Amino acid sequence: MLLELEGVTAAYGRVQVLDGVSLAVPEGGAVGVLGANGAGKTTTLRAITGVVRAGGTIRFDGRSILGMRPDQVAALGIAHVPEGRGTLGDLDVRENLRVGAYLRKDRARIREDMDYCLELFPQLRDRIRSNASALSGGEQQMLAVARAFMAKPRLLLLDEASLGLAPGTAKTVYGAIRRLREESGISMLVVEQNANLAFSLVEEAVVLETGRSVLSGPTEELRTMDDIRRAYLGG
Ligand code: ATP
Repeated sequence: MLLELEGVTAAYGRVQVLDGVSLAVPEGGAVGVLGANGAGKTTTLRAITGVVRAGGTIRFDGRSILGMRPDQVAALGIAHVPEGRGTLGDLDVRENLRVGAYLRKDRARIREDMDYCLELFPQLRDRIRSNASALSGGEQQMLAVARAFMAKPRLLLLDEASLGLAPGTAKTVYGAIRRLREESGISMLVVEQNANLAFSLVEEAVVLETGRSVLSGPTEELRTMDDIRRAYLGG
């Protein structure tokens, strides 16, 4: 397994938010994290990146990353596309992509990867000189994904990439992420409220309920379960 969580706990102050999250992402795999608002999906990603202090077991590539700082986790090859996108508004598209690659030294490959991103997201090519803050929500989301890709991660953590986007735009963004996955082989852990979008990208998912993983399995199986359908698929 590339990423393994076992019995992960986390709290904000005295409020226990994660209380036993277990999941695993195989090398090259994509796993979804489903669950209602407040179930702890975002906190799970923050526990992995070291933004939130966690207990339990978190292993990346066989080695414990519990207690590491966010920059150390990033340097191991874990890139996070946070909820709300986290692009740098005062920088233009090209500068944002360069920032994504700041830990890399392979200049020729960086240029190739930048070209690849602009081919994957042609909307960004059209707006290459625009500040991120001037982009539409969909374009900002594309930039956030592209910027994370520029770090050449082994694992991409995606948080609610469809949030606030029109359905057509969300589909476009997920289509590009799917292509990125197929062409790059990057492993992914995908938090997504819209289970249909999540299921278009991942082959396995884990369901969180009040900070605990209660169910996991291949998406084909989860999809047919009545309570999952009711809770996350709108009937
Ligand atoms: P959402 O879809 O709403 O983001 P989520 O499943 O990602 O939900 P989290 O954001 O991980 O859930 O939040 C889990 C719980 O922790 C919620 O009850 C939330 O109110 C609480 N929480 C989140 N961030 C903080 C914080 N910075 N301080 C205190 N409590 C927080």
